[in-house]
Amino acid sequence: MAESFNLLQLTSDALQQLAAGQADRWHAYEADETLHVAEDKARSVLGELLARLDDNYPFFHPSYAGQMLKPPHAIAALAYFMAMQINPNNHALDGGPATAKMETECVAALARMFGYAQHLGHLTSSGTIANLEALWVARSLHPDKAIAFSDQAHYTHERMCQVIGAKHVKLRSDAQGRLDVDELRTYLKTGRIGTVVVTAGTTALGAVDPIHEIIALQRAYEFRLHGDAAYGGFFRLLVDEDGALNHQDAAAFRALAKCDSIVVDPHKHGLQPYGCGAVLFRDPSVGRLYKHDSPYTYFTSSELHLGEISLECSRAGAAAAALWATLQCFPLTADGLGAVLRKTRQAALGWAKLIDESEALRLVTSPALDIVNFYAVPKGLEDGLQVSAINALTHRVFAALMNDQQHPLYLAKLNVTQRLLTGHSDLVWDEKLLTVFRSVLMKPEQLVYVPTLHEKLLAAIKV
Ligand SMILES: *Cc1c(COP(=O)(O)O)cnc(C)c1O
Repeated sequence: MAESFNLLQLTSDALQQLAAGQADRWHAYEADETLHVAEDKARSVLGELLARLDDNYPFFHPSYAGQMLKPPHAIAALAYFMAMQINPNNHALDGGPATAKMETECVAALARMFGYAQHLGHLTSSGTIANLEALWVARSLHPDKAIAFSDQAHYTHERMCQVIGAKHVKLRSDAQGRLDVDELRTYLKTGRIGTVVVTAGTTALGAVDPIHEIIALQRAYEFRLHGDAAYGGFFRLLVDEDGALNHQDAAAFRALAKCDSIVVDPHKHGLQPYGCGAVLFRDPSVGRLYKHDSPYTYFTSSELHLGEISLECSRAGAAAAALWATLQCFPLTADGLGAVLRKTRQAALGWAKLIDESEALRLVTSPALDIVNFYAVPKGLEDGLQVSAINALTHRVFAALMNDQQHPLYLAKLNVTQRLLTGHSDLVWDEKLLTVFRSVLMKPEQLVYVPTLHEKLLAAIKV
């Protein structure tokens, strides 16, 4: 890993300082014999672990251009590892005052990034739980009304509506995978919708719903707006930059500031290890909905404990420490963390251009963020461009690239319906779904790697 510091040295220094500090301050005691593990046992277990971990895909490498996966930044991993030695629990200030303060600072930084003037929020163990909280608040405020989202919204919204017992409506999306505003208006006219979920960066296509246009509908209709920016949220850092995002999408990101709640996943584009989502509310008074008493946990402070504004109980304080340390090195500015996202975005634009110029390949939609979707066009078809033939080619090339012994390349696949491909009028739909390639270019190193990705792909198609 190309870090500018020696991670092992830093880790070892930090561990020594931590242990020395504890030894200085606290009366000496012996670790209990029941907890003892012999050194050769530890070595052999770790050796076995290493061997078992080999059964993985190379998420760190630019040749892994499949799902939204990459290792955390070293500074995040180190901060997590250090804080984990103490293992604070951010449920209550009783569980770890230092990391609770870090969490509060990080959440405030996220709220500022989105343009919230005031906020209430906290970290969560995932985007799914963060969305669950936002939907639960929405349902509490509009108990008899439905929650609406597009057919491109994350699949967990539908399940979470079942969990909280909320009615839901699934709206059509347009040919770019964005929520269809006309269809939404039709539903709003019925008066049955209490909350609309908009997505700033859908998981499949990276599409950005026209949030600014949907907000304009609030002049005529009353509804709550929840912005799911789990994957796309950090692209907010690029909206003021010419040409980074298209105008529509930049306007949509700016409009997140007017959403009643926002979810963003630092464990996706925020360089964090898993276990770090976040939910933010624009109106801090929704905190009253969380009101509960815990007979065990809230004693050391009369300040609001994070567990009093969160549905989860125990949460890793180490996750807050990791995010806090990361934001010291990569602040939420265009030149801080934005510099990383700028490259991933440019990588997607670069590959989309090569795909667009290639006879053998076609884009499904032009990328809005850093996800590129495309399919290969089979040669020599006489009865038109059959979906079944494209699907077979996708599966063959996907496997061939991954199984290449010398230099494997990892892409993901995505099933899309005919509605998304209305512009692709020569497709013959002899199967219901078209399976295309989906590639998330979320590593900045992929910018210079795009020509390699492209050549390997073309070579695999030709075989
Ligand atoms: C990833 C994602 C989620 C779910 O988040 P997890 O952290 O995986 O639970 C929700 N919404 C969107 C748009 C996502 O991309």
